[in-house]
Amino acid sequence: MRTAEIRKRWLDYFASKDHAIVPSAPLVSPDPSILFTIAGMVPFIPYILGTEPAPWPRVASVQKCIRTNDIENVGRTTRHGTFFQMNGNFSFGDYFKREAIDFAWELLTGGQESGGYGLDGDRLWVTIWEQDAEAYEALTKGVGLDPKHVVRLPREENFWDTGQPGPAGPCAEWHYDRGPAYGPDAVGGTVDPGGDRYLEIWNLVFDEFVRGEGQGKNYPLLGELEHKSIDTGAGLERIAYLLQGKENLYEIDEVFPVITRVEEMTGKRYGADPEDDVRMRVVADHVRSSLMVIGDGVRPSNEGRGYVLRRLIRRAVRAMRLLGVDTVAMPSLLPVSKDAMQASYPELEAGFGRISDVAYAEEDAFRRTLAQGTTILDTAVGRAKTRASQGSDGSTPLLGGAEAFQLHDTYGFPIDLTLEMAAEQGVQVDEKAFRDLMAEQKQRARADALAKKTGHADLRSYESLSKELTTPVEFLGYTDVEAAV
Ligand code: ATP
Ligand code: MG
Ligand code: MG
Ligand code: MG
Repeated sequence: MRTAEIRKRWLDYFASKDHAIVPSAPLVSPDPSILFTIAGMVPFIPYILGTEPAPWPRVASVQKCIRTNDIENVGRTTRHGTFFQMNGNFSFGDYFKREAIDFAWELLTGGQESGGYGLDGDRLWVTIWEQDAEAYEALTKGVGLDPKHVVRLPREENFWDTGQPGPAGPCAEWHYDRGPAYGPDAVGGTVDPGGDRYLEIWNLVFDEFVRGEGQGKNYPLLGELEHKSIDTGAGLERIAYLLQGKENLYEIDEVFPVITRVEEMTGKRYGADPEDDVRMRVVADHVRSSLMVIGDGVRPSNEGRGYVLRRLIRRAVRAMRLLGVDTVAMPSLLPVSKDAMQASYPELEAGFGRISDVAYAEEDAFRRTLAQGTTILDTAVGRAKTRASQGSDGSTPLLGGAEAFQLHDTYGFPIDLTLEMAAEQGVQVDEKAFRDLMAEQKQRARADALAKKTGHADLRSYESLSKELTTPVEFLGYTDVEAAV
């Protein structure tokens, strides 16, 4: 079943249950406290908190999301995208736990010929809060889930709140058992929610209590909310790879065509080498995320959302480089991603001229950075090798922290790229010295900012700084936060 069809069935199903269907909010978060929309509930926060009356008692959506905290997981787990779509259904003071559980069961296990997803109910496992007797009843007696598949967890593991006094409530997280090929059986009534065997697909949040003051999950429940809410989120791509019989999120119809294109460009076969496979998945994921993020109006920059976009494009270009492609890559990849996403996002066609201009210009800028830095890096590597060969102890050549710092600071060359490219030539980098220099630079920047604020510029520090700068500095567009790339 194509991803676009899974999305359509979601919306059709909840429309048939009297939900208003609301289009996705932009990726640029409507809530100013976060950069990107990270969950389906973000556009509805005021209705869940009760600070504004909800325009509809029940609604459903398929929300575009970006989660940068998952960036390191991409390509390594089977289930994390930086961009993904969260299917959701919500009730604001309308239906509650029992109906939400009925809906989830009916849609997941309902026959495909009658609009459902046709998943095997015997393979579903649900984790609940250990004191949630109502959820337990609804899952076992209600929809008939095997009681052995209902896993009771303490509040630390399965309870939602906003981090402060106000609404809070237990979750019921639905997992699909992909079978023993993906890991050991659940033992002692626990599933491993982080694992690939029991794949987390859908989180139901029952927002029913008022919580008081306290650290972490250690707070009193003061009573029940007057208007209880349902907030759910199911990963569209996760359902897609189950229904498409694929191994992971990157192999579904909306993502895999980019991997196929990468295979053509590199002459490498997906599945032949585990590290190359990770790189191919990173490329496919990041190209798609860049497409969607630019589509929602973000431009590359050195901070905030723009920095996230910059990082996505640069990571994709670097992964291509490590796959052996040194030529321009984006123009071959981005249109493929656009074609794969278009069934669900027809607006990409009209916007593509603008989107591709932004993406291609950013790749060009990064390639210039790489080109300039690479010459400097090669010189530094050469020096390190000469130094090592002059020494008699046969130690590994070491590129100095100051050289790594100059590459970073002057040529915008991220430290991990320096590490990686030096390692390719058998050279280590004095990372500790590099970090020390970074810390010093930060310190100076802080002192500088303070001086500006207080109006007491300490000219001596400028003087010593200018002496330290032995090369003319042309800043090429990185900030020290780049070290994290
Ligand atoms: P996980 O434990 O797998 O990281 P999560 O507990 O962080 O997931 P939730 O915050 O509960 O996820 O989000 C609701 C649903 O959204 C998840 O059950 C999952 O199906 C989906 N989801 C969350 N993060 C991602 C992601 N990075 N890529 C794809 N789908 C995701
Ligand atoms: Mg997560
Ligand atoms: Mg989880
Ligand atoms: Mg979860």
